[in-house]
Amino acid sequence: MINILAVTMTREVYEEFAGLSASGCLVIDRGGELIALTPCCAAFATFCDTSLCCKSCYGEADVEHLLPAQVAVPAALINTCIPGLPRRRKEGS
Ligand SMILES: [Zn+2]
Repeated sequence: MINILAVTMTREVYEEFAGLSASGCLVIDRGGELIALTPCCAAFATFCDTSLCCKSCYGEADVEHLLPAQVAVPAALINTCIPGLPRRRKEGS
């Protein structure tokens, strides 16, 4: 049985969205390279000193984010939700 997941992401991520990793992180396809974004901020991971951390909040990040990501749930099975899109609907005056 397949559960349809609803995942919220920014439009920027959506354009490259490939699916979710086994640990539930967003995976993007950047020029054929699969990268798992950090679960805290949906940002890239980077090294600070000797440990891997989130590029956005500098919280600790799993080594998963350094390795080529594996898509566990393909984007086709995920209901993507992009917040903050302007809804410009003209109201009759
Ligand atoms: Zn973070």
